[in-house]
Amino acid sequence: MPLRKAFGEALLPIVDAVYPPRCPACGSSIGTQSGLCPDCWASLVVPAEPGCVRCQRPMETDAIGGEIVCAPCLQAPPRHDGIAAATLYGDASRKLILAYKHGRKLGLAPLLARMIAARLPEFAEPPLLVPVPLHRFRLWKRGFNQAALLARELEGLGRGELLVDGLARRKATPSLGGMGAKARQRALAGAIVARPGARERLQGRDVVLVDDVLTSGATSDACVSALKRAGAGRVVLACFARVLDEAMPAGQQHETGRKTETPGAAKAPGAT
Ligand SMILES: [Zn+2]
Ligand SMILES: [Zn+2]
Repeated sequence: MPLRKAFGEALLPIVDAVYPPRCPACGSSIGTQSGLCPDCWASLVVPAEPGCVRCQRPMETDAIGGEIVCAPCLQAPPRHDGIAAATLYGDASRKLILAYKHGRKLGLAPLLARMIAARLPEFAEPPLLVPVPLHRFRLWKRGFNQAALLARELEGLGRGELLVDGLARRKATPSLGGMGAKARQRALAGAIVARPGARERLQGRDVVLVDDVLTSGATSDACVSALKRAGAGRVVLACFARVLDEAMPAGQQHETGRKTETPGAAKAPGAT
């Protein structure tokens, strides 16, 4: 055993030299294994304030003190009770999410969760933390639910109680990209339900619905409806990256993120 320990220690400097820590978003060398390089930190876009009182969408306004509501919320009042987004979807957040979800860099979960936690509103009672569910098949293919890992980290940060299987997907839903709002709603109708075993805990409780990326709103709407039907109180959506252009088909979102990042960053005085 002592031999193995000495051998391991002797190897460490070599391992560090061969595999220096890299920024999970852009791949450039960084000092420590956890975190981003300074450039990527700087290019993450934090939602600016003020924002819509219903969905926290950043808005430019000259109104002082008055409550503002964005056009999408005026058109169709949302079922949720607010959105807590760590960042706006853009080049840097997209790379981070890709590394996390598809590059299997699960060690990013604590970092992403800390950034989400910073945006969460205060609750009178600790809320239940419910991840957006993956269908069994996707879970089996990917091996983990990225939203559930974030929800677990949020619990570790003292932001609520994890209810990991509060919601379930009854059927695999087709990719929602390219579908109109109506078609998305039809595809999702009845697809997401509160688990019978979770209903008792949900009664009258505030819920933070957790996901990595918030896109069309159709999936989260179905989750919010299922939670409220099961007796939940307020339901706040929490995500790492919020896509603001909800009408955009999924295939074009990456392009949009790239194009809008710079003006978005310039408009966001809250970005730090
Ligand atoms: Zn970087
Ligand atoms: Zn709004």
